[in-house]
Amino acid sequence: MKITQLESQVLRLPLTRPISAPRDNERGGRIDHVFLLVVHLDTDTGHRGLGFAYTMQGGARAMKAIADDDLAPVLVGEDPLDHERLAIKAYWRLQTIGRRGLVAQVYSAIDLALWDIKGKAAGLPLYKLLGGAREAAPVYGSDAGWLWMSPKDLIEASRGYLEQGMMGVKIKVGGDPEADADRLTQVREAIGEDPWLAVDANQRYDYGTALAMGRFFEEEIGVDWFEEPISCEDVDGHARLCERLEVPIAVGETLFGRDEFERYLDKGAVDVLQPDVTRLGGLTAWLKVAALAEQRQRPLAPHLMPEVAVHLACGLPGVQVVEYMPWFFTAFVETPAIANGQIVPPQRPGLGLEMNAEAVEKYALPMTGS
Ligand SMILES: [Mg+2]
Repeated sequence: MKITQLESQVLRLPLTRPISAPRDNERGGRIDHVFLLVVHLDTDTGHRGLGFAYTMQGGARAMKAIADDDLAPVLVGEDPLDHERLAIKAYWRLQTIGRRGLVAQVYSAIDLALWDIKGKAAGLPLYKLLGGAREAAPVYGSDAGWLWMSPKDLIEASRGYLEQGMMGVKIKVGGDPEADADRLTQVREAIGEDPWLAVDANQRYDYGTALAMGRFFEEEIGVDWFEEPISCEDVDGHARLCERLEVPIAVGETLFGRDEFERYLDKGAVDVLQPDVTRLGGLTAWLKVAALAEQRQRPLAPHLMPEVAVHLACGLPGVQVVEYMPWFFTAFVETPAIANGQIVPPQRPGLGLEMNAEAVEKYALPMTGS
């Protein structure tokens, strides 16, 4: 089989609930949309692979340029089943442009398309190809807890997920500690003791605040994990938090390589690994972090992308949970199904996804101008 063509497009998808808070305006800018790079790989056997990767803070047109100008020539004419060889080829061809970052993000979309083709060629849904660990996976709601939302909003949104039978929700923290404590107290009181409840500081606390808040979360709230408590650059700080806190520390969405996960694991700085399949270099790279997690006896919780994570969680026994974030749902014809409170993978071959033509037209990002 040979790749005959790479086609890419960028969608600018509006978010129903923006990612925004006063401090976000300083740090990350107000984010009320995400960009989705969509890649199609055509082959001489008629199988068409679909892959995608997102970006939040810019770089969308650059991603398309990397796909079209730099990676398409590396891939056209190659056998799409050779995912390991192609990952190495692309790495060496683009090493001086970017060993990490945008290049890895673009290659992630391509690698997912390669795996989509593999599933289609085998006539198997991706989760079966990966190992078929289970037929449905636990899932938590993750679009319920933004910092700008009032306690009332948080409770209402959380109830929406719990009413669907999901295991629980994740709430953002990292603003004013007293306000964070109040928000969490109100949410826990409203949803009761049973539902799973995680917090995510998106690296906004300093070490002292994270330690104090971690103690509060474990003693007063019953938090199930504390995500990105402090800067991802501070591995030693994470190690000290892991040592001093009972609540599991979850890290990984901002790490760009297996070696970064290894550094965290070597220092005892992480309990739950959250690799992002579109930041590491795709599924091929993600599986290597998964192997590392298994070797070090750490659970995996993929970052975002329930469309892909459902296959990871149903394919591999080490993946514990899927993060239900509906950012990309408008882009696809069908979105991941929830049945009896669990997320269920599509039974179609490969990723089992199809682009929604109407959405593609509506949200296409023009490639020139501002
Ligand atoms: Mg997070």
